[in-house]
Amino acid sequence: MSRKTIIAGNWKMYKTNVEALQLANQVKIKTKDIRHTGIIICPPFTALAAVAEVVNDSAIAVGGQTMCVEKEGAFTGAISAGMIKSTGAIHVILGHSERRQYFGETDELVNKKIKTALEFGLKPIVCIGETLEQREGNITAEVVTKQLRGALADLEPQHVDRLIVAYEPIWAIGTGKTATPEQAQEVHSVIRGAITEWFGETTADNLVIQYGGSVKPENAESLLSQPDIDGALVGGACLKADSFSAIIHTAEGLKR
Ligand code: PEP
Repeated sequence: MSRKTIIAGNWKMYKTNVEALQLANQVKIKTKDIRHTGIIICPPFTALAAVAEVVNDSAIAVGGQTMCVEKEGAFTGAISAGMIKSTGAIHVILGHSERRQYFGETDELVNKKIKTALEFGLKPIVCIGETLEQREGNITAEVVTKQLRGALADLEPQHVDRLIVAYEPIWAIGTGKTATPEQAQEVHSVIRGAITEWFGETTADNLVIQYGGSVKPENAESLLSQPDIDGALVGGACLKADSFSAIIHTAEGLKR
């Protein structure tokens, strides 16, 4: 297995430019000893270029939190894949549950965005996950598989090789409730199984599947120790350099 553990931080709509630069600098200092774990930070668009410059001489990669499906045009306020790429960012989070919930993003739109992102050389972090109602109705595997199938429609294995998938149960995002390591592992294994079936074993073996949903320094080790959990997408705990770097150091300690 050649998968690297990758820890990504989603800053959401937090941090002015001054605050963003401070946080990026602190993360850079606190993770300079990291050798085996991938690190991605996803600041707001306004700080992307400045943060990308600050971490340019480190192993930290930068990503956007969403992007417009259109390549360019009269779409006031929208940000394109090419614009994100031009800041020095190389990743983009797509299909985050907050985008689905508040901005009406569908699997079909996520699929189109993935294709555009790949065309511009960005590596998408594709988010999927079930609601509490769906989990309680025992349809988690079905829901997640359907989201994944929709998001990855018409893609070839070489496209999937450039993605990260993040399993983020909606009921665990920003709520302080975390899926147990066993619950998360079960879904990650369903995801890897589906990828094996659709894109082949090599692509599935190499795919980084992150868990997201109230990951903190206290629960990182038990989650990241699971065989199919290859990293974390972190919200709240990435807004402080101490907690974000503690999660990264935990991953590094468990290196595969
Ligand atoms: C997220 O926004 O993707 C996330 C997982 O948030 P939190 O860690 O705060 O639950």
